[in-house]
Amino acid sequence: MHDTKWKSAFRRKMLKWFSLHQRDLPWRQNKTPYRIWVSEIMLQQTQVVTVVDFFNRFILAFPTVEKLAAAKEAEVLKLWEGLGYYRRARQMHRAAQIIVDEHEGKFPVDFDSVVKLPGIGRYTAGAILSIALDQRQPILEGNTIRLFARLLEMKSNPRHTQNQKVLWEFSTSLLPRKQCGDFNQSLMELGSEICHPKRPKCLICPVHNLCPTAIKGLQTTIPVAAPKVKYESVNEAIVVIRRRSKFLVKQYAEGGRWAGLWDFPRFNLNLSQSNHDNSGNLKRVDGSSRLGDLLKDQTGLIVKIQKTDRQIKHAVTRFKITLDCYIANQVSGRLTKNQENYTWMTLAEIEAAPMSVTARKIATVIRDTNCKI
Ligand code: SF4
Repeated sequence: MHDTKWKSAFRRKMLKWFSLHQRDLPWRQNKTPYRIWVSEIMLQQTQVVTVVDFFNRFILAFPTVEKLAAAKEAEVLKLWEGLGYYRRARQMHRAAQIIVDEHEGKFPVDFDSVVKLPGIGRYTAGAILSIALDQRQPILEGNTIRLFARLLEMKSNPRHTQNQKVLWEFSTSLLPRKQCGDFNQSLMELGSEICHPKRPKCLICPVHNLCPTAIKGLQTTIPVAAPKVKYESVNEAIVVIRRRSKFLVKQYAEGGRWAGLWDFPRFNLNLSQSNHDNSGNLKRVDGSSRLGDLLKDQTGLIVKIQKTDRQIKHAVTRFKITLDCYIANQVSGRLTKNQENYTWMTLAEIEAAPMSVTARKIATVIRDTNCKI
């Protein structure tokens, strides 16, 4: 750890740099705990440029915690559509209801109450209370982990439990007596805008002279890289089933990743390990007949399915998903109720319903091509 003189110089330089170079972001105006909370939850796993429009729309629809608590979950999910990681939105909605029920609609201002709310961990609680209320709360997230690892010349993986402890202690020891909100934001801003993972801009960094990693030229080796994530290939199928002007959609049940969202019937087509070729690549399959059986089991409908050329590739956590699109026009049988909530919707109803990103892409193609997928 660095001495008191180093820390004083560091705080001074960071606060000065932040006052001159901070980005103009909507949540930096009128910094209430509610607005900072919304921004912090949106910024988890999502870039600032993407969040700005989502934040403005969300705050316009739900300007207060009471308005958010009173909203229907579908309205909240609809405004979250495109941001992904929908659990964040559901937890925020639940937390807003707790704030109304247990805190008279006022965002709590003590750390223990804030950290108890669904979806809020140590970092988010510290960020809300320091940025909105200038409380002396430390923070530690992706950008600050990298920045601190370089400032401490940490030569082992900063995400290891022991190193995390050291980094939280460092974050706490750096806090100034006042302006903790600006100081914490300056750390994240420097990490995001200057101290990049690859090619940090050390020549224009305000703390260049205080940084042992830059002085020794170790920027490419610190922070030590985490072990690479092993991606798993997954082959999914989505089936667009049309009956006159309506399409078959389902709503995901409680408890899953996409709870509350609507989707076209979607199935995992990975049959088994034998679905991979000798090089370990996923074998492409035409799942038309199997999908027919699955659909009959799940919905009671008998459909004639055809594979189309449309394919969407996307990644979710450690899965690389290839989504093949199928289409079915001939439908017989009656829709039976089951675990997922299947129903028929018009395109206008689909437009208004919250959907996953890939389902929305398909819905847009259906609309724009008059169902020529
Ligand atoms: S000098 Fe370079 S490595 Fe050190 S904190 Fe600044 S940008 Fe990061």
